[in-house]
Amino acid sequence: MDKFMQAAIDEAQKGLDEGGIPIGSVIVYQNKIIGRGHNRRVQSGSPILHGEMDAFENAGRQSAQVYRQCTLYTTLSPCSMCSGAILLYEIPKIVIGENQTFMGEEKVLRSKGVELSVLQDKSCIQMMQNFIAKSPELWNEDIGV
Ligand SMILES: [Zn+2]
Repeated sequence: MDKFMQAAIDEAQKGLDEGGIPIGSVIVYQNKIIGRGHNRRVQSGSPILHGEMDAFENAGRQSAQVYRQCTLYTTLSPCSMCSGAILLYEIPKIVIGENQTFMGEEKVLRSKGVELSVLQDKSCIQMMQNFIAKSPELWNEDIGV
């Protein structure tokens, strides 16, 4: 397992342990994690703190030059909101844990030149499947269904 994807999975697990939605993300610059986060919709009553957005938030303000050399790791295919942030800051590369339980805006990201790598990692898939089976209403709320 890639150590950065493992860090994103650890974040997702942390979210699950807090009673939240198990999606985690880390932002890597020059082989170092500069921001990590997990979905805080339940914990913070937040409509915007998806795992990726939380990682952006925790990375703090960065220059365009830094963003353009980052790789974002996320346990789940990024939704339209998170893909918007990825495009806004021109993150060039995204590593996605899985897109079987949810397909985000991968076509849009690819069409804008973002390099995507989808791992279809079994632990990511299992974590989301278990969560969706247990808390379908929380999951639907997260993706606006
Ligand atoms: Zn999102």
